[in-house]
Amino acid sequence: MFTIPEWAYEFHGHKCPFMPIGYRMGTLALQHLGVGKARNHELFVFSEMGVGHPQGCMQDGIQAATAATFGKGQMHKLFYGKVAATFYWPGKGAVRIALRNEFVDKIAPHEFFQYRRKGVEPSEIPLEVSEDVIRIVLTASETDLFKVQPLAYFQFTPVPGSFNKDKCEVCGEYVFERYLRIRAGIKICIPCAGAQKEESVVYIPNITLKK
Ligand SMILES: [Zn+2]
Ligand SMILES: [Zn+2]
Repeated sequence: MFTIPEWAYEFHGHKCPFMPIGYRMGTLALQHLGVGKARNHELFVFSEMGVGHPQGCMQDGIQAATAATFGKGQMHKLFYGKVAATFYWPGKGAVRIALRNEFVDKIAPHEFFQYRRKGVEPSEIPLEVSEDVIRIVLTASETDLFKVQPLAYFQFTPVPGSFNKDKCEVCGEYVFERYLRIRAGIKICIPCAGAQKEESVVYIPNITLKK
């Protein structure tokens, strides 16, 4: 049986099946790329998750397994609404891993999801129920869980790193220059400029998934 370190559950906050699914997905990606954890910024992950579906827990498992974290700027979201992610290590290649429909259908009737559909949060679900659905995830074979596609044509252009910053002339706080706006000739941060939604640009990475 696959094992997940206890600290990963602690980091995630509760016991659910999707963090372990992500942990297994991330582990498999490292094996396919022939690499270890990304201690620095070597690995990029493009999660196809969106917002408003509980499968997003998967992304915490991916981060725990690979150390390609949101904080280090390696975890990006594509908002496709799919339980899948592409893992890209420049020089080693790219691989897309998707959770199989059959596995989703297999665990869907589990008591864990009956609680979830009634609005019960994972930490409130009886532990034996959560641990049983996790056991199904940890005892499944990799081929039962995942579809693996190496992406020969994958390309990604990261945003160039910059330490340049300046002070907002209204609130006085430092702002990294990509996010400074000019209004009436003064440098201003996004909230001081009136927090226009379209100006708090959601970053969508520039990638090529298919030829
Ligand atoms: Zn969770
Ligand atoms: Zn400001």
